[in-house]
Amino acid sequence: MTLKEVYNSRSVEEVVGLLGEYGSEAKLISGGTDIVIELKNKKITPKILIDISKIEELKKIKEDENHIILGSGVTFTEITENPLFKGNLHGLHKACKMVGSPQIRNKGTIGGNIANGSSAADSIPPLIALGAIIKICSIEGTREIPLEDYYINKLKSNEIITEIKFEKLNKNQNLNFAKLGLRKALAISRLSIASLIELNEEGLIENVTISSGALGKYPMREKEVEEYLINKEINETTIEEAITVLQNSMDERLKGRSTLPYKRVAVSSILRENLKEFIKTRTEVRAW
Ligand SMILES: Cc1cc2nc3c(=O)[nH]c(=O)nc-3n(C[C@H](O)[C@H](O)[C@H](O)COP(=O)(O)OP(=O)(O)OC[C@H]3O[C@@H](n4cnc5c(N)ncnc54)[C@H](O)[C@@H]3O)c2cc1C
Repeated sequence: MTLKEVYNSRSVEEVVGLLGEYGSEAKLISGGTDIVIELKNKKITPKILIDISKIEELKKIKEDENHIILGSGVTFTEITENPLFKGNLHGLHKACKMVGSPQIRNKGTIGGNIANGSSAADSIPPLIALGAIIKICSIEGTREIPLEDYYINKLKSNEIITEIKFEKLNKNQNLNFAKLGLRKALAISRLSIASLIELNEEGLIENVTISSGALGKYPMREKEVEEYLINKEINETTIEEAITVLQNSMDERLKGRSTLPYKRVAVSSILRENLKEFIKTRTEVRAW
């Protein structure tokens, strides 16, 4: 199939109509950082490209009383430059700051990072830890799904992701992120961990969500580690025990994979860094 046309869309409504008309013959292009490589290598050969990079409604970062809403066309740079993602949302800022190079961060979008579906996509673990919900539109209507379920319930060829929404954090919650790349800045992460932790008045963990990147077929919650951490204080002992719990889950999940021995070692430094950073950032946020 050869590329016949590129549509420069100005509204989601128009995109939905085009996707309804062309279905699997069409492909969306946003920042182009992933898809241009796939087109060049002929990994995909769409007939129609729909450029969504100029659609204003996809480029907004909005908030209401209880939520933050990211348009799917928001770039990594726009997140790192927005003061909303400092303070206790620091983990999302850090994940976006660690993506590729400045050029990639200026072009690459959150929606593209999700849609591309890589298990090592950096923005996904913090968004899963936040319990983010994604809004998907098509000619059949609108559906909302937890980002956590996206990988088992992927996009249909006539759908576009329009928004990513999550609840604002309270003062006792902190989002953190740690990543191990192959080559520091330019490598796609081989392994990452995000944690959202809420302490109670006694300093014990009241709520916790841990999510990982590149520790399975797709980014996922690490529920056994979460269960272990509930009602614990974060200290050297609990950090080391949490690492053992995570390594045990990985042994089961990645059984027989050649990467398992490397990932077992790597995960210990990443989870340790993440939880130690929680202790540090929590102190800093409280001092504000
Ligand atoms: C040199 C280099 C380094 C990189 N480093 C990293 C890194 O460190 N960490 C990391 O996570 N990523 C990295 N990436 C990957 C890339 O930058 C991200 O995946 C980026 O977020 C993709 O967004 P985009 O807007 O460029 O998507 P595009 O390339 O435009 O599209 C990617 C895919 O998503 C689909 N798509 C785009 N937007 C939507 C939407 N709103 N709804 C439905 N489908 C959509 C497209 O059809 C296409 O299939 C790197 C890429 C390169 C080239």
